[in-house]
Amino acid sequence: MLTSKGDEQSGWHEQAFETARGTFGRGVYVRGVVEVSNYCRENCDYCGMRRDNRTLARHRAKFEELADLLVHHCPASITDINFQTGEDPVAARQIVLPLVRLLRERTNLGVSVCLGTLDETLYQELKDAGAWMYILKFETSDAAHYSGLHSPGTLKEREEHIRKLASDGWFVSSGFIAGLPDQDMEALIGNFRFASSLPLMGCSVSPFIPGESTPLADTPAGDLDLTLNSMAALRLMNPAWVIPAVSALNLGTDSEGYVRGLRAGANLCTINLTPGDLRDNYLLYRRDRYIMNEERILNAIEEAGLHPSTESMVSLQALKE
Ligand code: SF4
Repeated sequence: MLTSKGDEQSGWHEQAFETARGTFGRGVYVRGVVEVSNYCRENCDYCGMRRDNRTLARHRAKFEELADLLVHHCPASITDINFQTGEDPVAARQIVLPLVRLLRERTNLGVSVCLGTLDETLYQELKDAGAWMYILKFETSDAAHYSGLHSPGTLKEREEHIRKLASDGWFVSSGFIAGLPDQDMEALIGNFRFASSLPLMGCSVSPFIPGESTPLADTPAGDLDLTLNSMAALRLMNPAWVIPAVSALNLGTDSEGYVRGLRAGANLCTINLTPGDLRDNYLLYRRDRYIMNEERILNAIEEAGLHPSTESMVSLQALKE
């Protein structure tokens, strides 16, 4: 299935699409992502925000700027917000934490965070402030490969954080990269087994994109079909998971890859709300990343024969309880 193309591939994607409809109907969750800081204390080989990348201008957003944006100018289709940073505990505490409190007080938006591995106290403060979903990707389930890529800590530690977050009541989503250098088919399949063994409620698959000014800058990008097939497989294995269509499906000049992601079983879209000045320097991958604004997201959802959900993902908590 993972290497399928043509009619065979279309058949698998159709099954995955129908499986998602069986659980979620034709609604797709629409989440806004705000990239709060591109400082990172980690040094992952596959990421442009790694600390050794001296070519990247580093920024932390201003609380006031994001507060105004989210309370007064949030696009109407958005039901959830995700705050994302490099691994930057200062930004997590000083900017994200008060923003989470603000959203809980002033809006009905569901709040997710993707802030890397933090200490237990800060996890709890974020949860107490009103965040409910924690996104912590494992990227590759092969422990030696994980360490060789200089991913944060060890795979074992990453797993422990995921398990601890889930046992503390977080709704945890993770993710892995398809097409990483040195990832053979066995290693790719290992990601499915590992993800399914974790207490997750969602998982993403991102195609490997060689980041500028990273040790992997000259290696070939992951294959879009392999990524889409992986998403479809993940959906068939886990009908109730939140599986996002990631913006990296769109590295071309149009949204075809993104629409195909929705047709392969994804049920979450993300609108990038990061203010332009910060976004130009935030880029996880490279500068021609195709930014998904509200218009492009709504068009892609319609093209896939779906509609934006009017409910926040927080309603999924009922599945966990
Ligand atoms: S993947 Fe995350 S932890 Fe690793 S360098 Fe990038 S932002 Fe930092």
